[in-house]
Amino acid sequence: MGPRVIIVGGGISGLATSFYLRTHFSGISVTLLEASDRLGGVLRTLRPSGTVFEAAADTFDGKDTAAADLCRETGLGADLVPCESSLAALSIRKDGRTFPVPLSPALLKSPLLDFSAKARLLFTPFIPRGRPDPAGSLADFVCRRFGRSFFKQVAEPLVRGVAMAAPEDLLAAGYFPSAGRRADRRSVFCVKGGMDRLVNALAKRMEKVDVRLSAAVRSVGCDKPWRVTLESGEALEAEAVCLALPAPLAIGLTGLAGPRLAEQLSGFRYDPAAVVNMLFRPEEVPGEWRRPGFVVPGPGERWPFACLKSAGPDETGRYIRMKAFISGVLQPEVFSLPGAAAERAVINQVKEEWRVPAPRWSAFTRYPGSIAQRRFGPPGLISRAEPSLPGFPGLFLAGSAVGEFGITDCVRSAGQTAERIARALL
Ligand SMILES: Cc1cc2nc3c(=O)[nH]c(=O)nc-3n(C[C@H](O)[C@H](O)[C@H](O)COP(=O)(O)OP(=O)(O)OC[C@H]3O[C@@H](n4cnc5c(N)ncnc54)[C@H](O)[C@@H]3O)c2cc1C
Repeated sequence: MGPRVIIVGGGISGLATSFYLRTHFSGISVTLLEASDRLGGVLRTLRPSGTVFEAAADTFDGKDTAAADLCRETGLGADLVPCESSLAALSIRKDGRTFPVPLSPALLKSPLLDFSAKARLLFTPFIPRGRPDPAGSLADFVCRRFGRSFFKQVAEPLVRGVAMAAPEDLLAAGYFPSAGRRADRRSVFCVKGGMDRLVNALAKRMEKVDVRLSAAVRSVGCDKPWRVTLESGEALEAEAVCLALPAPLAIGLTGLAGPRLAEQLSGFRYDPAAVVNMLFRPEEVPGEWRRPGFVVPGPGERWPFACLKSAGPDETGRYIRMKAFISGVLQPEVFSLPGAAAERAVINQVKEEWRVPAPRWSAFTRYPGSIAQRRFGPPGLISRAEPSLPGFPGLFLAGSAVGEFGITDCVRSAGQTAERIARALL
C-alpha cells in the first residue's frame, strides 16, 4: 500500500481533489470522508414537476478552464452548455419599476442617476485608473473613481443585492482584480440535465477511492502520521490530510493548526445565506424575468431578501426559475425565521412587488457560513490561506477552506492541492 491521504468533505472541492489524486498520480491511497449521506456539498439539483432546478449553483464561470476541463475529463464534455451570465443583466427595482443597469456608457441615460451623478461619471476617464488599494474598501474605491452620487444611487444597491454585503465591509481588491484575472462575463456554463451529473460522474470514477458517507470528522490531530477521529469514535491514520470544507469548519477540526488557519483567513468572512427557489409559468411573469439576471432593491427599499435572480427558462421552456437570496448579514431577522415563515415572507414580497401569482412550486434552503466574502480590514490581512500550512507538514487545504468561492475556483484549487499532496508524498 502506498502513502495514505484522507480528504475531509465530499463537496466539489473534496471530490475533485480525490479525482485528481487517483487519476493524475498513482500509488496514493485515498479515503474521502463526508459527514452527510450524499456527495456534492452545497451542489444539489432539484427536479420538481419534471424540471431541473439547481438549489445553489446553477452555472460556473469560464474565466479559466478548470471546471470545464473537469467536466470533459469525467465524460460530460458534450453536455457542457454555454449560457448567459446572470451578471450580464443587472437591474434595480425602485418605486415599483425595474431599471436595467447597463455597465456601459448607456448608463448615462438611465433615470436611476441624477444630474450630479451623471456629470461626475463624465469625469471618470480623466481620473487615473490605478489599482485598488490592496487594503481599501470597495465603497472607498467606487466613490473615489465614480463619485459618491453614483455609489449611493447604483453601486451600493447592486453590491448589497448581488454580493450580499455592505460595500464598506468588502475589500476592493477582491472585487476588482487585475485585468488579467477579471472574469469573462460572457463565458458561463451549465451542465445539461443538472449540476449533480458532474457530482455523479465524479462519484463513478471513485472506484479506487474509499468513499465514506455519514462519516463526520470530529477532530484532526497533528501527530505523525495524521490522526482523524470520526464522530463515531473511529480513528483513521494517514500521512496527509486535506480539508475541503468551509474554513470555519476546518478551523474547528484542526486543534493546534486551527489558530494558524484562522489567522491566515482573517481577511475572509463566511456569511450565512438562504435561498427560496421558485418556479413560475412564463405567461404569468413579467418579460424581464425570462432572461437570466439579478434584480436588487433600490436605495432605501426594504425587502426580506437581498436580490431576486432569474435563472431563465428551464430546459423544456415550461417554467421560469427564480431564486431569492436572503443574506444572514443583511436580513438577519428573516434569515433566523423558521424556513416556512421566511419562505412566506419572500413569496409575499415577490407577489406584491411584481403582481404575480404564487409560484407553482417553491423550496427553502439555508446555507450557514457558506458565502466567502473578501473582507475589508487593516492592512496586512492575508486574504487567502496557503494550500499547506507552514509548520504542519502533511496538512493541506482545498476550495472553501482556502477562501475560494465558486465552482471554477474550487476545482482549480483542488487540482493545485492534489499536485502539492502528490509532490509531498511520492
Ligand atoms: C446559495 C449558493 C449559490 C451559489 N451559486 C453559485 C453559482 O451560481 N456558481 C458558482 O460557481 N458557485 C456558486 N456557489 C458557490 C459554490 O457552490 C461553492 O463555492 C462550492 O460548491 C463549494 O464547494 P466545497 O466543496 O468547497 O464546499 P461544500 O460544498 O460546502 O462541501 C463541503 C462538504 O464538507 C462536508 N463536511 C462538513 N463538515 C464535515 C465534517 N466535520 N466531516 C466530514 N465532512 C464534513 C459537508 O457536508 C459538505 O458536503 C453558490 C453557493 C451557494 C451557497
